[in-house]
Amino acid sequence: MYKYFLLFLLILCIVFGCERHPADSDFKADLYFENGVIYTVDHDNSIVQALAVKEGIIVFAGSNVDGKAYKEAAAEIIDLKGGMLLPGFIDGHIHTVTPEFFDFVHFFDFNLDLTLQTIVHYVNAHPNQKVYYGFGYNVNIFEGEELLKGPRKERLDAICSDKPLIIYSLDGHTIWLNSKGFEYCKITKDTPCPIGGEIVKDEHSGELWGSLMNSAMSLVPDPYLEKDRLSVVLQNFQSNLNALGYTSIMTLPGNGFLAVYWDGYQQLERDGLLSLRVRGAEIIKPWLLEEDISNIKTLKNKYNSELVKITAAKFFIDGIIAGRTAYLMQPYQDSGFRGEPMWEQATLNAAIASMNREGFQTHTHVMGDASAKMALDAAQFANCFDCRNVLTHLPLVDPNDFSRFKTLNVIPVIQPYWFFKQLNYWEPVEYAVLGKRAEREWPLKSYINNGARVVFSSDYPVSNPPNPFVAIEIGLTRNQPGIANMDDPAYLLWPEERANVEEMIRGFTANAAYSIFAEDVTGTLEVGKSADLIVIDQDLFSIYPSKIGNTKVLRTYFKGKLVYSK
Ligand SMILES: [Zn+2]
Repeated sequence: MYKYFLLFLLILCIVFGCERHPADSDFKADLYFENGVIYTVDHDNSIVQALAVKEGIIVFAGSNVDGKAYKEAAAEIIDLKGGMLLPGFIDGHIHTVTPEFFDFVHFFDFNLDLTLQTIVHYVNAHPNQKVYYGFGYNVNIFEGEELLKGPRKERLDAICSDKPLIIYSLDGHTIWLNSKGFEYCKITKDTPCPIGGEIVKDEHSGELWGSLMNSAMSLVPDPYLEKDRLSVVLQNFQSNLNALGYTSIMTLPGNGFLAVYWDGYQQLERDGLLSLRVRGAEIIKPWLLEEDISNIKTLKNKYNSELVKITAAKFFIDGIIAGRTAYLMQPYQDSGFRGEPMWEQATLNAAIASMNREGFQTHTHVMGDASAKMALDAAQFANCFDCRNVLTHLPLVDPNDFSRFKTLNVIPVIQPYWFFKQLNYWEPVEYAVLGKRAEREWPLKSYINNGARVVFSSDYPVSNPPNPFVAIEIGLTRNQPGIANMDDPAYLLWPEERANVEEMIRGFTANAAYSIFAEDVTGTLEVGKSADLIVIDQDLFSIYPSKIGNTKVLRTYFKGKLVYSK
């Protein structure tokens, strides 16, 4: 009898196939993608033919043949039409700010009269408002002393003398106030100025001039937005990012200007409206060290939900090259000065180590090569490999320091948008103050060659719009976006530092996920990861590099949900 049973099984096997089939429902995918280049960004840079998503999670990535059962049971099949499917992008350093955070905005205008008219117009049209916050005047529209020291308060007093007017410059380095504005911020001519900033004063009278520079901007309270308006403004901000292909960000306060609106983000998450994974930082300032450390610990506990987390402590070591405030190993070309750091090495070491011990990553603004060395020394002192400390910007790095990024597991978070000789900027500004060193600015490939995990970012609003495909293109060409011949020498900057397509995508995805401690959840197209995906209209591997900047995002999915479609 048993013999017949085996024979019966054998016949079943021949007719229906012997492998065990899971129940049909196991293949029931919500989404099935095919007919394009599906670049997984996994460890081996695998490209697969098909990908399936179920309940927000990637459940299959493989060949058409192996995916057949998923395709047959899929609720929706998406034809990539020869385009690409990639992990959702992650911006490694971005500011939560848009013109909408302010009452009035005057972007990119080179005309002083028009700028003043905009302010007059807004104030007259809103007579009941108690405080006026503006954004976007161009610092270069002024002349003489005002070009150097920022505009005078008297210009604004003439427009409004009884209520505060507080206006941020387009470059984010100056705030212009009227007399009531200073009163509102409790700033007098005797107020101590934070290190790294300036409360600008009249040289002769010692009175307030009208401008706050750099870290002195931290004395101004952020613009207040009513709850409902904040929600709308943040949703617009995230929609713009979703449309550019982002599904996660690391967001930070600026240099004394504009905090991150944590409550607003968390409210969106509670309302089920957040379509970004938000990781962020708060600033640790040397002159408020203890207060800031205790503050950030409280905030870390408060903002620690699935999508909104404070994970990093932001440090500034120096300023910017153009302002000769970057801290260099050799003096500036046009003076004997080499800048100075905002921290003493020993204090910095102790602060970085203490933040690491408290479970924070550190995220440090570094412009000069001497600052980069200080930051690496501090990371070495802190000796915390899995803290994944970040250095950001890094235009100049001592070649001897490249290998230390891997050794210390320090992550360079850099902005490829700037990696070419920008017209009317590179030569008159960078070359003028750095000399020949400017030819060796913005390393990229050197990090990769030395085994570091390089991560990319926009530093938006500094790069605006924060289009990652423009950054990928410039990383490949080191030349002006859209240029016909990428070897054209006119704008070409240090071509030896060009990276390849895989490396550029990795810096916006897998590596960036690692840099925000989210590599178990996002950053690659592997089974088990969140379905944070983007569909783009062209195959980046097969087009001329300077065409990459034109790439269009067709669809963005966050946790399997369509959050943008073109
Ligand atoms: Zn920044």
